[in-house]
Amino acid sequence: MLTYFIADLHLSDDRPDIIRAFLDFIEQQAPKADALYILGDLFEFWIGDDDKTPVAKQVELALKALSDSGVPSYFIHGNRDFMVGKAYAKRCGMTLLEEEKLVDLYGKKVLILHGDTLCTDDVGYQEYREVTQKLWLRRLFLLLPLFVRQRIANKIRSKSKQANTSKSLGIMDVNQQAVEQRFAEQPIDYMIHGHTHRPEIHQLALSGTKYRVVLGDWYQQMSILSVDTNGLVLTANGQAQKLELGQ
Ligand code: MN
Repeated sequence: MLTYFIADLHLSDDRPDIIRAFLDFIEQQAPKADALYILGDLFEFWIGDDDKTPVAKQVELALKALSDSGVPSYFIHGNRDFMVGKAYAKRCGMTLLEEEKLVDLYGKKVLILHGDTLCTDDVGYQEYREVTQKLWLRRLFLLLPLFVRQRIANKIRSKSKQANTSKSLGIMDVNQQAVEQRFAEQPIDYMIHGHTHRPEIHQLALSGTKYRVVLGDWYQQMSILSVDTNGLVLTANGQAQKLELGQ
């Protein structure tokens, strides 16, 4: 009885070491789990299921083998790989989930999401997100030849890097009201997300004790969250944080 969560691997062909770490995890650890949840930004960028990069194929084969062995995997889009489509998900044998999903984990109600929708203080990013969420624009983008999409993606990435270096760390973190709103709207025991690359188990004093669990990235932290009937263990940078979940 064990469920794994990972996020923000930012896999790309530039970083074979991270790809190797991911493949090791999928081949050695993940088969022991009941399920694997990938909470976004599995890929550094994604410009269409027809972009046949080596990393896309490696990940596909690994996830398909995991699924064939009886471990289901679920995927929530991140802000980098929001274009991952049904065709690719099907090849991986993984299920695409909506951007915020309520799941039952060993009797606890848990909201899972990538986390970017909580960062409401970053107005520039939220405006960009609104544009990229438009379905007609996505369809139009996918009609462009691959090399044009690659150029556009490179431009957006370098612009986003420039913008983020001038933003304060506070702006790029979650907004507390956005977090509390989620807990007020639904009967949730805890929330699990990534995106901010700040691994932590936050305890919140709302109506009852609630928890917000933040996954770290894989570029530096190799962060994994494992949840079982006793509680959860968040690892990042070789350090483990534990939370026991009472009845
Ligand atoms: Mn992200």
